[in-house]
Amino acid sequence: MRIDLHTHSTASDGTDAPGELVRKAAAAGLDVVALTDHDTTRGHAEAIAAVPEGLTLVTGAELSCRLDGISMHMLAYLFDAEEPALLAERELVRDDRVPRARGMVAKIQELGVPVTWEQVSRIAGDGSVGRPHVASALVELGVVPTVSDAFTQDWLADGGRAFVAKHETDPFEAIRLIKGAGGVAVFAHPGASKRGRTVPETAIAEMAAAGLDGVEVDHMDHDADTRARLRGLAKELGLLVTGSSDYHGSRKTCVLGEYTTDPEVYGEITRRAFGAFPVPGAGGV
Ligand code: AMP
Ligand code: ZN
Ligand code: FE
Ligand code: FE
Repeated sequence: MRIDLHTHSTASDGTDAPGELVRKAAAAGLDVVALTDHDTTRGHAEAIAAVPEGLTLVTGAELSCRLDGISMHMLAYLFDAEEPALLAERELVRDDRVPRARGMVAKIQELGVPVTWEQVSRIAGDGSVGRPHVASALVELGVVPTVSDAFTQDWLADGGRAFVAKHETDPFEAIRLIKGAGGVAVFAHPGASKRGRTVPETAIAEMAAAGLDGVEVDHMDHDADTRARLRGLAKELGLLVTGSSDYHGSRKTCVLGEYTTDPEVYGEITRRAFGAFPVPGAGGV
């Protein structure tokens, strides 16, 4: 079984429409794929409608969080997308992305680059707008050669010249909301140090005590040492260990199924999620 628990579609900053993504996941030989767009579930319906025979879709989202000034991401799986408290928080974060992206456009203009909000908005379409869309605009304008080259202090990296912060949820609150909506919470790429400062292990231990279910260990942004350290920490704290591609279509270099999750861990995730619902399968699938 090949299981990839973290992908993005055009509902956020991926480049494949949700339906296209599930078709590609099946073609890539995956048995299970999770759709985890940033701060939104709006791709779920299209993905569910398009799931090919033999593929299982895990509905999810990747929630933008911040702890003590450090941005981090929390993967949420199989929660009830209609549950009002989590829905309200998700919409708050997603909606704040618009003025924030406009702010980054203004900063880039001040740096002498003729980027416009219309351009960024066209690239983002109806997806949650984020830095990768702004980065794509910079690529179109010939300012940087690739999307990832825009993530430097010169442009869009945390604290960079054109960076603007957005509203982000306290991770303890995110865990509470995810569990309250019947879902499973997994800390995404906790050791992705090239993106900026990372959360200390003591905080991960506190999150584990607060109900965090797992940590994403096998991820392109973790080197071998980081993976070994996180695996050890997960064992110590009794956390599930996941692996995934964090696929973004052509906006990133990773491919579907580049990293995968152990079937037993996937089984435990589904047990924890569906166990919270009176009707099996009522978790949004
Ligand atoms: P945002 O949520 O708008 O702040 O954008 C964050 C997204 O930008 C992440 O989910 C990644 O997809 C992407 N990203 C962050 N850091 C980098 C980086 N160093 N290189 C490429 N993409 C990045
Ligand atoms: Zn992304
Ligand atoms: Fe992420
Ligand atoms: Fe992601």
